Amino acid sequence: DSQLNQNYSFNNYIEGSCNRLARSAGFAVANKPGTTSFNPLMIYGGVGLGKTHLVQAIGNHIKEHAPGKFVLYVSAEKFTNQFIESLRNNSVQDFGNFYLLVDILILDDVQFLAGKDRTQEMFFHVFNHLHQAGKQVIMTSDVPPRELKGFEERLLSRFKWGLTADLQSPDFETRVAIIQNKMMADGIDIPPQVVEYLAYSVETNVRELEGVLISLIAQSSLTRREVDLEMAKQALRHIIEDVEAEVNLDFIQKTVAEHFSIPVDLLKAKTRKKEVVTARQVAMYFAKEHTNHSLKSIGYHFGGRDHSTVIHSVQTVSDLIDSDKTFRATIQELRKKFTGNK
Ligand code: ADP
Ligand code: MG
Repeated sequence: DSQLNQNYSFNNYIEGSCNRLARSAGFAVANKPGTTSFNPLMIYGGVGLGKTHLVQAIGNHIKEHAPGKFVLYVSAEKFTNQFIESLRNNSVQDFGNFYLLVDILILDDVQFLAGKDRTQEMFFHVFNHLHQAGKQVIMTSDVPPRELKGFEERLLSRFKWGLTADLQSPDFETRVAIIQNKMMADGIDIPPQVVEYLAYSVETNVRELEGVLISLIAQSSLTRREVDLEMAKQALRHIIEDVEAEVNLDFIQKTVAEHFSIPVDLLKAKTRKKEVVTARQVAMYFAKEHTNHSLKSIGYHFGGRDHSTVIHSVQTVSDLIDSDKTFRATIQELRKKFTGNK
């Protein structure tokens, strides 16, 4: 038994600039395990960024395309516990021999071995044997190898023999794609503006993004499998309305600034440059339309302007909407981002 989770594949591993190198190195290894110079392959990155998913996808791909190979996925923690147990049972030899049979060894969260000298020694032995025999070793770590503390130098130096690739936090577009992909897999439908809002709000890591999505679904008080599209829409309606109500000043400012291709900080700055002034007025206009902030509070959030400036901005934008067709189209386009197509 390879201990792999079938749900992790390259197909559902969304590509973005945050993971491009790691993903393509992983794909190369998956197609030619043990024969590329990416041996060992070391993937590192912060929590929830997709290390486990990626290395499991490699394992599943190999199992599918080279069924004869013995692929083994094991967390460093489990490796350690098994080793300790073998010490207790006087079966260290069996433990070692078992690992020597593996063709592709995937050791997840190798940082767990820090300070565990005897486990490291065992892994060193296994690593050397497999590597010499042209077997593939794949590892993950939450920090780059050079920052791993509590490791023997000879082991660290081997970690750097092959290829080391990092995973970064996904950018906005990748986050949207990940949510859409998850939604499709789960057969649920969430309006685009909510997807964008989620992607905008949860920047930290993918696991958290999924957590928010799952709690959104859970709040619908249906099990995920039972949710068909219509039911999901019904059940999610109040949650979606809540989320929409939260579309806040930050989001408006960021979206408008992006639309006018100016840094968001300029909306709060003193500058009177024409394109900045227009963007600022538009953002104030939407702040009034889509938040519960008072005019005073809106002014405050735009660099401490007073409420009469906000009134003037809203009036200016309204006038422009009436008189300028192109401008009206711009506003309609932007408004969709805050309300959807209702
Ligand atoms: P890590 O091992 O780095 O802590 P995981 O591999 O467990 O992170 O990923 C956390 C969650 O995010 C998993 O459910 C995983 O499927 C998902 N995930 C991470 N990156 C991606 C991606 N690029 N595309 C799709 N899902 C992803
Ligand atoms: Mg993991």
